[in-house]
Amino acid sequence: MNLIPDPLLLQAFSDSFDPSRLRSDVRLAPFTTFKIGGPADWFLEAGSADELAAAVSTAKAIGTPWFVLGVGANILVGDLGFRGIVIRNCATRTSLETETSRVFAESGAIVYPDLIELAVSAGLSGLEHYVGIPSTVGGALWQNLHFLSPPPERERTMFLEEVLHQAEVLTEEGYRRAVDVDYFEFGYDHSILHERRDVVLSATFQLEPADVEWMRSVMHANLEWRRERHPPLDTEPSAGSIFKKIEGIGAGRLIDQCGLKGRRIGGAEITHRHANIMINRGGAAARDVMDLIRLVQQVVQDETGYSLEPEILFVGEF
Ligand SMILES: Cc1cc2nc3c(=O)[nH]c(=O)nc-3n(C[C@H](O)[C@H](O)[C@H](O)COP(=O)(O)OP(=O)(O)OC[C@H]3O[C@@H](n4cnc5c(N)ncnc54)[C@H](O)[C@@H]3O)c2cc1C
Repeated sequence: MNLIPDPLLLQAFSDSFDPSRLRSDVRLAPFTTFKIGGPADWFLEAGSADELAAAVSTAKAIGTPWFVLGVGANILVGDLGFRGIVIRNCATRTSLETETSRVFAESGAIVYPDLIELAVSAGLSGLEHYVGIPSTVGGALWQNLHFLSPPPERERTMFLEEVLHQAEVLTEEGYRRAVDVDYFEFGYDHSILHERRDVVLSATFQLEPADVEWMRSVMHANLEWRRERHPPLDTEPSAGSIFKKIEGIGAGRLIDQCGLKGRRIGGAEITHRHANIMINRGGAAARDVMDLIRLVQQVVQDETGYSLEPEILFVGEF
């Protein structure tokens, strides 16, 4: 049941978009890495930073609930879908600034392979660590994308904030504004975007010249690391880690200790490869994942005393 009468919504968006681009009742499952989720009342693909800003501003102006979707790698969409408009970010323009060793990307640019390949091929280092992680630039800033530092030490976690130079955001108040790293108040799996409804339109990353062979070897090692530990997305859809990290202990280790690997509800299963990752065995409903999340929380709380908090975002109606 749409909240906003169709003619009003179509009229408002027709200033900036051809009405044929505005689709109704679109299933969201195919647009997420979990392959789960019901329909959005309205669905629009924004093809540039300007279109993204226009779409969000229009939705706000008419009071329609809106959601900016990247590649849907960190979300669980409810079985009943989303009441309002889902704006899929397809603003993918990128460019190199060789004199300054900077890379510019609109916020729908895909981190891997697109952005990383652009940088590495130009001999610029700083993004290659995030190889193999499904993400748009906007989603990566939302969550402060992170991964381990290169082998053999793998001594620390590296964060995307380390190479962010500047970004353009559409602020919650409706202004387009250039902001620097501090604006984001980055933390582990955190940025100000969790608290303010700003939308990232584009970002510039400050990279460093480095040996291409060395970067390729880091990429190879990181892809191998993932291949050995993570379920492959094409055959075992997932949303990556389900629960937040517990410093020094590890959510996955606790779940494993409780013997929950392989536990299944409906089509959702805790993969044998990694206790903190749930996979869609085929036809999983969001409800199955929610039930499995609750079961894990209950068992881990009862058996270890730790309470696990979901890391993924729940979107829409369940
Ligand atoms: C197999 C797998 C492995 C993963 N491994 C890692 C890992 O090693 N490290 C890691 O950090 N993460 C990892 N993740 C999690 C995920 O890849 C990241 O969180 C990613 O950054 C999500 O980006 P997205 O484009 O899919 O965002 P989405 O999931 O589409 O959206 C997530 C949130 O970001 C918001 N958002 C998206 N674009 C914008 C924008 N332009 N402006 C404002 N808000 C925006 C959305 O509204 C939503 O609130 C993994 C996920 C999977 C499936």
